[in-house]
Amino acid sequence: MPEYKPQTIEQKWQERWRAERAFEVTEESSKPKFYCLEMFAYPSGHAHVGHVRNYMIGDVVARLKRMRGFNVLHPFGWDAFGLPAENAAIKNGTHPETWTLDNIAHMKGQLQRLGISYAWEREIATCLPDYYKWNQWIFLKMLERDLAYRKRSSVNWCPSCNTVLANEQVVNGGCWRCGTPVITRELEQWFFRITHYADELLDGMAQLGEWPDKVLTMQSNWVGRSEGARVKFALEKSGARGAKSETRGAKSGTQDAERLRILDCAPRIPHPAPRITTGSKYSPPASTPSTAPTSSSWRRSIRSFASSRTHRRIRPRSAPACRSSPRRIAPLA
Ligand SMILES: [Zn+2]
Repeated sequence: MPEYKPQTIEQKWQERWRAERAFEVTEESSKPKFYCLEMFAYPSGHAHVGHVRNYMIGDVVARLKRMRGFNVLHPFGWDAFGLPAENAAIKNGTHPETWTLDNIAHMKGQLQRLGISYAWEREIATCLPDYYKWNQWIFLKMLERDLAYRKRSSVNWCPSCNTVLANEQVVNGGCWRCGTPVITRELEQWFFRITHYADELLDGMAQLGEWPDKVLTMQSNWVGRSEGARVKFALEKSGARGAKSETRGAKSGTQDAERLRILDCAPRIPHPAPRITTGSKYSPPASTPSTAPTSSSWRRSIRSFASSRTHRRIRPRSAPACRSSPRRIAPLA
């Protein structure tokens, strides 16, 4: 058996795949469609074996489906927008754009050397205007329809990361990222009126026949439509000590010399409101796209708004071609 030399063998085939655009696909194919999407990588610096393990699984699936005659769309992108990038840039004394794009270029080179079968011509980076202008466009549509609104609300705040944390990101009272004790802070925030869609979402779940019960329960808890409330109250009698009791729904009216004192009141199913931005002031972009992206890029944009789950109500007016991003990130050699 000849010696396996990855530097020559793999490079040879990877160059051929690239030259033949082996993993690029078009929508016109008569083959059955298969969409293989792994989570976008956060460009934290270098790809490590955890990335390799994760992305290999998707690559095996994509390649198998291709061999079985499917028109496989296997795109890749970078989850590259946000405060972690800014914090890292401050730490490294580099501009966030430089730091993030350099990391993307480095990681892209690593993934390409692995020979993963991505349609690189469709690569996106969420920190680039080509991508996030669509998020902004969707947001403006929601604003027009009164589905986004602003109000003051208290949040979990990490004073070290200078960022808001979701309840799930608070671990034993500390920030999941840095462990700093989390404080509560009042902030002006943007909210989505997802409650407008609670019934529709719950109805739609009835169609997810093969999904595990655990997932459906979690999902319905997340949708969080509540019916009734659980009220904890004490019955206070004049001159006598109050007796504690618990019931669903407080009685209205009181008897002579008796008073109901509410100790606690909560919806029977808690429903946290998703937060989309914090602290920063919203200012509309100078130019708003007048047309909508194609279905695939549209879906990608939608994904970043997954928490709103309102896409079925917001349709693009038209669908012109928007296939290639003018800004490409060349991998570092
Ligand atoms: Zn923190």
